[in-house]
Amino acid sequence: MPVLSELTSRLAAVDRRVTAAAERAGRTRSAVTVVAVSKRFGADVVRSALRAGHTDFGESRAQELRRKAASVGGVRWHFVGRLQRNKVSDVVGLVSLVHSVDRLELAEAIAAQARAGGTGTGTATPDQRVLVQVNAGDDPRKGGCRVGDAAALVAGVRELDGLACEGLMTVPPMGEDPRPVFARLRGLRDDLRARFPEVVQLSMGMTDDFEVAIEEGATIVRVGEAIFGPRPA
Ligand SMILES: *Cc1c(COP(=O)(O)O)cnc(C)c1O
Repeated sequence: MPVLSELTSRLAAVDRRVTAAAERAGRTRSAVTVVAVSKRFGADVVRSALRAGHTDFGESRAQELRRKAASVGGVRWHFVGRLQRNKVSDVVGLVSLVHSVDRLELAEAIAAQARAGGTGTGTATPDQRVLVQVNAGDDPRKGGCRVGDAAALVAGVRELDGLACEGLMTVPPMGEDPRPVFARLRGLRDDLRARFPEVVQLSMGMTDDFEVAIEEGATIVRVGEAIFGPRPA
């Protein structure tokens, strides 16, 4: 388990790389949010990274998210994994952003939960912010809607009360050059933004490719191992 000093220096190293990549692309550091993906690391690790000054954390399983959120306060949570409809109530209202809306039925379930008051607080919650996940690399092993279905899905999601669709997310195929995949998602975002001005975010890039993603326009990168070290099995 990484100690605080180690986390602090890894976070600083990632920050320097983010800054350099943004500068190469003529962008500013503040245009990119780093989500620290803490899946399979304990709540103590999240607490340490929070103490080191990091605030945005990502999880990919609803149960694990709930457990950690119950034990660490002050975190801005992101949900980045596949979401089942029956797990929606664990996530809505608890997370700042759901990155992985890949079908209309899921969006409808999230919207219904948001209108009902989030995770059982009984009070009206603000719109649940979401991204539409696109399988921009046409990889059958990766989640996300097909590129050709993205515009219709975004248009459908926008119609739902209780949701705010703020952009797109993708996970590129492994072992291939991710740059064309990132460029494709950006092109899709640019087309959609011309019709729907609130569609601005591009969640793309992980430990192995976040600098390329930033060069291609990422506004959110999801970085795990570069911050936390090798992930436990
Ligand atoms: C695990 C995960 C990440 C982070 O992966 P690293 O290689 O550890 O940076 C990012 N996005 C998603 C969707 C993930 O599941």
